[in-house]
Amino acid sequence: MSRVLLPGAVLDGRQVTLGVMGGGQLGRMFVHAAQAMGYATAVLDPDATSPAGLVSHHHFQTAYEDPQGLAQLAACSAAITTEFENVPAPALAVLAATRTVAPAAAAVAIAQDRAQEKAHFDRCGVPCAPYAVIDSAAQLAAVPLDLLPGILKTARMGYDGKGQVRIATPQALQEAWQSLGGVACVLEKMLPLASECSVIVARGDDGAMVSFPVQHNLHRDGILAVTQVIDGLVAPALAAQLVTAARAIAEGVNYVGVLCVEFFVLQDGHWVVNEMAPRPHNSGHYTMDACDQSQFDLQVRTLAGLPLLQPRQHSPAIMLNLLGDLWFRADGKEASPPWDQVLALPGTHLHLYGKLSARKGRKMGHLNLIAATAAEVHANALQAAALLGIEAF
Ligand code: ADP
Ligand code: MG
Repeated sequence: MSRVLLPGAVLDGRQVTLGVMGGGQLGRMFVHAAQAMGYATAVLDPDATSPAGLVSHHHFQTAYEDPQGLAQLAACSAAITTEFENVPAPALAVLAATRTVAPAAAAVAIAQDRAQEKAHFDRCGVPCAPYAVIDSAAQLAAVPLDLLPGILKTARMGYDGKGQVRIATPQALQEAWQSLGGVACVLEKMLPLASECSVIVARGDDGAMVSFPVQHNLHRDGILAVTQVIDGLVAPALAAQLVTAARAIAEGVNYVGVLCVEFFVLQDGHWVVNEMAPRPHNSGHYTMDACDQSQFDLQVRTLAGLPLLQPRQHSPAIMLNLLGDLWFRADGKEASPPWDQVLALPGTHLHLYGKLSARKGRKMGHLNLIAATAAEVHANALQAAALLGIEAF
């Protein structure tokens, strides 16, 4: 990226436009951040009612690999980013022939494949859970038994706990691999987790890098439920190690953009890296209200070649994920959650993604809570959770 794209600049008679592959909620929040700074935006997503497409200046409604759609996006956008990791890497490579694309197809391709991802962690000297790659019946038969009990994960296309089977015996492993369609998989040893954390870094094409504080994450049913970023919740020495590891992982692939790295903290105090996402992350949504710059602001800056400054968290924060489940009452009927009561609590910031229908497990929005003290934010978050029917944490 040799060129700085100044906000609000006019190029060829049009306002400089930032493009994004994918129209989900992450794309929507990117679009909002870009527009706030004076950029026009373009989204490519096949869905007519995609959360980002609904709020963007331009929406190209085609398949991700459609040559015409890609050509239109490239013609319209000065630089293009991505908002979900399963964007076909070849499509990013096509765009990169004529436009700045960040993150690059090569980095996205690594994050799309658990086997490649673990190989990258190994190269960067960051420890991960003991694992074996399984892409043939012979490899399946040769799996070391000390990986059991374990979790069999499809190498590609898994998210929110989908494409995973927990197994305890060699027999169950056979069956699980069949049930996943015999596709390439990674078998990971099941580790005794004390907690889960994530780190978000942003890196510019000049190698400048900044990071957000370490996030403490609670998952339920394989989906992120609660993120807390409160001083002292993650021991400072541990936090420093996780930030160093996340930076090494970004550096190791010459990453440009916003990258999230997820970690497991083990009961014996050790930690391992779990996976990385080549984009802003659900666990970073608290930055929208608790930091002087959000993860989406930094995504805009990395894409436009603008300066990166270390973000500062100004308030302790808790984020509650709002899944579609909350839209269903006890009698099974659909109804909006009691936002009027929730928003009566101090320090609440509601973000809904504009999805037209609720489904169980579907990410509909998130609620950020901030306060002057840890005790206050915690008390208010528990009250909000109780009003919404989210289990206490
Ligand atoms: P996804 O891509 O769906 O987020 P992950 O690999 O992050 O998949 O797994 C989802 C969740 O399952 C993790 O957040 C963690 O709670 C649990 N999990 C995954 N791998 C392991 C493991 N090796 N040991 C213990 N728990 C695990
Ligand atoms: Mg995960």
